[in-house]
Amino acid sequence: ATPTALLVGTGRGAQVGVLIKGPEVLESTRRVDTVVLDKTGTVTTGEMALVDVITTPGTDRTLLLRLAGALEDASEHPVARAVARAATAEVGPLPTPEDFANVEGRGVQGVVPLDGPAGRTSHAVLVGRESLLAEWSQPLPGDLSAAKARAEAGGRTVVAVGWDGAARGLLVVADTVRPTSARAVAELKGLGLTPVLLTGDNTAVARRIAAEVGIDEVVAEVLPAGKVDVVKGLQAQGRTVAVVGDGVNDAPALAQADLGLAMGTGTDVAIEASDITLVRGDLLSAVDAIRLSRRTLGTIR
Ligand code: ADP
Ligand code: MG
Repeated sequence: ATPTALLVGTGRGAQVGVLIKGPEVLESTRRVDTVVLDKTGTVTTGEMALVDVITTPGTDRTLLLRLAGALEDASEHPVARAVARAATAEVGPLPTPEDFANVEGRGVQGVVPLDGPAGRTSHAVLVGRESLLAEWSQPLPGDLSAAKARAEAGGRTVVAVGWDGAARGLLVVADTVRPTSARAVAELKGLGLTPVLLTGDNTAVARRIAAEVGIDEVVAEVLPAGKVDVVKGLQAQGRTVAVVGDGVNDAPALAQADLGLAMGTGTDVAIEASDITLVRGDLLSAVDAIRLSRRTLGTIR
């Protein structure tokens, strides 16, 4: 039987924190010309923070945080973790949703019960992309639309909150680019590879992060299933594609890639779907992995 994780490069792999599944992986690594980088949790730390809450006139901020927090508390998404953490800190223990659904790569929905002086009321709540709310006939009113555009132009991720039939506010979330991402992108280019930023997030946010780390090619607002198609599309152009991801909504893309690299800080699903695991969870180890494979092959030949 083949060991699932085999260290190659006479222990050099272990030294640089790279786990390679098998020797055949080295060959695909050598041919790679394009490196697709997932944004959230890969180029960025994925440890997001809630930085602003914007409400429509007449909407209570505490109520918004309680309802949105209750749903997000049941989701593992980095945006959700940031919202649930901030909501708990500000309004205390959150209600348990009676009904909860994760709409992959788009948001969450459910029914949140509230106990008040007048007894128990239940609210049908949506938290997520603008398009998810629009689908439930909860378009953003003009002032929220404008506030969303402003926050996104500043590089923030913005999710909308609606309940009982209307959009009522925005949650503005900030992510942090990993300190080593720009250097890693420069080194990938130095090796003759083309970096591409791939994300489900908004185009404005994606462009801003891409500019910050030196990536020219950006594919944004892609649903989780669409990420596989982006990889297939690049392959159809004759490119040999590596994908670096954390497994949150990108595991199928990692599996489709000619070379899948999982952030060690990511999910088990990512590690399963990948050829290489980057133990340190930083993009410089992706560069190390590619360099190491090239050098190791050079030695074999
Ligand atoms: P990325 O491709 O950058 O890793 P995802 O595909 O995971 O991002 O998510 C794309 C977008 O979908 C997020 O930026 C957010 O707007 C929305 N989204 C996904 N899950 C949630 C959630 N649980 N709560 C709120 N918004 C969400
Ligand atoms: Mg991600």
